[in-house]
Amino acid sequence: MTDSTTAVDAASGSPSWLADARQRGSFRRAVRRWYARHRRDLPWRRHRSLYRVWVSEIMLQQTQAATVVPYYQRFLKSFPSVRRLALADEEQVLRAWEGLGYYRRARNLHQAAKQVVRDLQGRIPRTREQLQALPGIGRYTAAAILSFALDQPHAILEANTRRLYRRLLAASSEAGSDRSLWAFAETLLPRVRIADWNDALIDLGATLCSPRQPQCSRCPLTRWCGAFTSGDAESFGTAKPATETTPLEELAIIVESGGKVLLRERREGEWWSGLWDFPRIRLSDAESAADFDRLRSRFLQETGIEIDTAVSLPTLRHSVTRYHIRLQCLRAEADNRTDDRLRNGYRWIDREQLERLPLTATARKMAQWLSTGGVD
Ligand code: SF4
Repeated sequence: MTDSTTAVDAASGSPSWLADARQRGSFRRAVRRWYARHRRDLPWRRHRSLYRVWVSEIMLQQTQAATVVPYYQRFLKSFPSVRRLALADEEQVLRAWEGLGYYRRARNLHQAAKQVVRDLQGRIPRTREQLQALPGIGRYTAAAILSFALDQPHAILEANTRRLYRRLLAASSEAGSDRSLWAFAETLLPRVRIADWNDALIDLGATLCSPRQPQCSRCPLTRWCGAFTSGDAESFGTAKPATETTPLEELAIIVESGGKVLLRERREGEWWSGLWDFPRIRLSDAESAADFDRLRSRFLQETGIEIDTAVSLPTLRHSVTRYHIRLQCLRAEADNRTDDRLRNGYRWIDREQLERLPLTATARKMAQWLSTGGVD
């Protein structure tokens, strides 16, 4: 089914309405009216500054708004300005980010804050080119920071708006290349109240034009929407099919000795780099924590520490990229605590320090078992 509004111009491949200034005006009014009634009240929209918007945009990369809210509020309490962030050490920054995942974002944000303070006297850049020269800031993030904080006229393209634009254009994933979607967003961009405009498009994409079961019956844009006209809106703009998952078995051990526990900081290039973790070893299909006698030599090889017996703790499950990890956990006492035999960056850490160190999600859980003296 095709109607005159969503018909496509053969020469440009764009919907005909896009070339019509009156139609674009009607489209913008429909978006703004909807937003005035349905805007989401999010903390980073309340008091906008370059720094606050920057922090929120980095946190929102690959993470939903509802998840980000408490992290954003805590982070700003700890680091209320770019100078305070630049002065912090990386461990403090990662501790504040702990649980939000994709830790490279936090490390880049920290590096960029240091760069702003060191090279730009603490003034966050006000142009897209300068912002994009900082670590962790790409075209979308720079456009978002400037449009939300300063109302500068920059179009945006992120996960929610990408899906929304693809559906409006009834574009397959090949036809809806980022280049053509950026061009579409720029054609739609109004001259004034840019921050509201970009927020409105994100909210429409996040709430009505959701990946599954878009709520077209409540959407103000059906007149202009090619996917709606096609009768199968959901099939447009959805992500690639999920990749197959791979199960992994691992073993983690809390090793104690005289009020200290054995940990290491995960290295650059490893999962969760910069966070601290209890000793872990990957298990083969034939290995199980229940058979710890056979694993003792591998543990010694990994850490340089010998342990005699170990008691079982609950098994944890978590995922990283396409891997689903089943983490069998044990608790043990080291035979004797020596520092000179430690390998692979393992260190004896005071138990009290666990609260301050940035830990992996599973290590935090295990640390809670230690501090409460039991498992829940
Ligand atoms: S009509 Fe449906 S598919 Fe089109 S933009 Fe609205 S919610 Fe999305």
